Amino acid sequence: MFGVRGAHTGWLLLLGSNSLLVLGYLLVYHGMLVFRGRSEHRWLQWGIFLTFFLVFGYYCSDRQDIAARITVYSLYITGLLLAIAESALGPSHQKLGVNEILLATWMMLMGGLTLYRAWHAIAGHATDPLWMQETGFQSYYVLAQVLTVQLSTLALIGIHAQRIEHDYLVLQGQLRAQSTHDPLTGLYNRRYLDETLADEMRRSERDGHNLCVAMLDIDHFKRINDTYGHEAGDDVLRTLGTLFMQWARASDIVCRYGGEEFSIILRDTTLDQVMPRINALRESIAQAKFCSGSRQLPSVTISIGVAQSDAKITNPVAFLNRADAAMYRAKQNGRNRVERD
Ligand code: GH3
Ligand code: MG
Ligand code: MG
Repeated sequence: MFGVRGAHTGWLLLLGSNSLLVLGYLLVYHGMLVFRGRSEHRWLQWGIFLTFFLVFGYYCSDRQDIAARITVYSLYITGLLLAIAESALGPSHQKLGVNEILLATWMMLMGGLTLYRAWHAIAGHATDPLWMQETGFQSYYVLAQVLTVQLSTLALIGIHAQRIEHDYLVLQGQLRAQSTHDPLTGLYNRRYLDETLADEMRRSERDGHNLCVAMLDIDHFKRINDTYGHEAGDDVLRTLGTLFMQWARASDIVCRYGGEEFSIILRDTTLDQVMPRINALRESIAQAKFCSGSRQLPSVTISIGVAQSDAKITNPVAFLNRADAAMYRAKQNGRNRVERD
């Protein structure tokens, strides 16, 4: 439409080309609001377009009233440019990047230029024959319009790429958390235990630190499931997970080994130091109240086996087996007790 414009531009062409420009900026604004997850106010956007169409259309009827047309167009465009700048800088869950700042800065500069154009028209310069030709201020303005399209396209692609990268990192974090955590209790899972125990054994050997591991098994857990249902059993596992975490120190690594068995890696500590701590844990669990929904459950006890790493234990499986053997002794010796390797 711009190409066929000239001295004999008809009102339809004038109205059509300017409406398309306004619609273009409105689309960018609308897109930014959707992208940011903000409310779109569709009626406001339609209202902006329709009032522009009517007001601008009215001034198109008088071919000579170029100043009024430039003023109307420029004021609408300035408003839209500033709205786009605001939507680029506005509330976002992400940190502002260079692309948002570039887009907003350009939109504000262009808004300033457009406002100047409106003032120019109001001040009476628009009737200057220069306005009718593609020279002087008008030609700079046209050039700035072309640059706006190029720059905003690049900035919008950049903003989108930023979003994809951000989402990818969030997803990666979620996947990592899922692959190392047990969904029921929120504790670390067996995979994490296996990897970490191997690392910790190497570290303790290298640095000469002590390392212990505990295996914990709920006593007669099957009875809870059989009497109160699987849901109640799950609630007991969850509560135990919370109790273990409350008891643990920052250096302890609490894992759900599988089923109703848990493992705790105890760093920088000896068996002698661990025994009183772990006995206190056993006792506090025996005294804790368990419930499932509104139902009170009977008390729960656990049997625990603890082992300390030494030169004879060369791999995590052997280390866990030592703690497991101690735990089975605790079962044989009457349950609700701690046995050491
Ligand atoms: P013991 O004192 O000898 O350890 O007896 P126990 O009943 O605790 O041991 P057993 O190995 O016979 O039973 C373990 C039960 O744990 C059987 C299984 O149904 C239950 N269990 C394992 N995983 C889950 C789970 O995720 N949720 C629930 N509700 N139950 C589970
Ligand atoms: Mg078991
Ligand atoms: Mg058990």
